[in-house]
Amino acid sequence: MLPVDGYTLRPLGSGVMLQAFYWDVPLDWYVNVSAKIPEIAAAGFDNIWLPPPSKTMNGRYSMGYDPYDYYDLGEYNQMGSIPTRFGTKSQLISLINSAKSYGLHVTADIVINHNSGGASQWNPNTNSYTWTDFSGVASGKFLRGYNDFHPSTYEWADEGTFGGYPDLAHANPYVRQQLIDWGIWLRDDIGFTDWRFDYVKGYHGWMVGDWLANVGGYGVGEYWDTNINTLTGWIASTNYRASAFDFPLYYTLRDMSEGGGYFDMRNLANAGLAGTDPFHATTFVANHDTNEIFTMKEMAYAYILLSEGYPTVFWRDYFDWGFKDAINLLISIRSGYAGGTTSVLYADNDLYIMQRNGYGSQPGVILMMNDGDTWKGQWVQTKWTNQRLVDATGRAYDEWANGDGWVEIWAPPKSYTVWIPA
Ligand code: CA
Repeated sequence: MLPVDGYTLRPLGSGVMLQAFYWDVPLDWYVNVSAKIPEIAAAGFDNIWLPPPSKTMNGRYSMGYDPYDYYDLGEYNQMGSIPTRFGTKSQLISLINSAKSYGLHVTADIVINHNSGGASQWNPNTNSYTWTDFSGVASGKFLRGYNDFHPSTYEWADEGTFGGYPDLAHANPYVRQQLIDWGIWLRDDIGFTDWRFDYVKGYHGWMVGDWLANVGGYGVGEYWDTNINTLTGWIASTNYRASAFDFPLYYTLRDMSEGGGYFDMRNLANAGLAGTDPFHATTFVANHDTNEIFTMKEMAYAYILLSEGYPTVFWRDYFDWGFKDAINLLISIRSGYAGGTTSVLYADNDLYIMQRNGYGSQPGVILMMNDGDTWKGQWVQTKWTNQRLVDATGRAYDEWANGDGWVEIWAPPKSYTVWIPA
């Protein structure tokens, strides 16, 4: 890996992304995250995703999704405070430097569909007063007025608006260039390495593509939609530079987890965007907006952490809700074993058994998931012959793959086992 600013970061995708916040985190959250950096790095994460960094209309009360002054990351006394909800600019830079010194990428949450907090001005495009005067931002940078928002003379509207907020007109060359310049500043002056794009359903995919072409880094878009073809269309509109959060897989895993055993486990085969285009799929089972997977959540994590796609772990699941040990084991199995393509070895109404076929130093692994009410055994033909297989979760007894690769493996009710050669 090439060093970034003197830091050598882990190859992105070699590990797992941690979403390092949740809704309504305590004030000065950057300090909390900083304290956890050594533990996060030791667990095998390669990337932390931080909340939107800019000062917003609602200041300390906001989670950052209503940006006002893009260049105020907790530096200027406006909107009620110097810090953002998450802390000061210097605390943010300290956090980023610490993370990078441990080899972690740092992902910024980029909100460029809409703004808030502008002053009222006469808008000739609407023949009315609109809250589109952002000429008073304390940073003095990226000043905006009515024609930088829809309806603009450059473009009357784009794909969508959010909650009635002023909607940025990226077709205005000034807006496009200012956003890219801001991205370069976030990269060079603040130290962010990668980008999570909020609410990309609301604007042109080419804006994300342009950002990534000019700023670089890994980018993932929040395109909240269950249609895989819609997601692949959006990825294409970014010139294949961006990945997308795998909402289709999320809802499939929710249906499994909350299905009471009635979910057809065959639906897990090649599920979601990860089953179609794994190199553009960022998978997750919970985030700050959506937490609907409860009953079989650990099994849902086993699916994303051992499958193709780039998995994301939610902070609360890891630090607050008791999944840390299970996730640590799954991350270590992922990095040590879960390489290569995927073969579905068996699936029926209650069982889903898949094998990662191995790649390079990663020998492969078998995941067996059971949403039924009893222990279940199943004969499958694996890639290993005359080989002892052990369940890394410690739930099942060791088994032996015969000379033709066949072995009977087991999983407990509403749980999973993970089989590796030993
Ligand atoms: Ca829009």
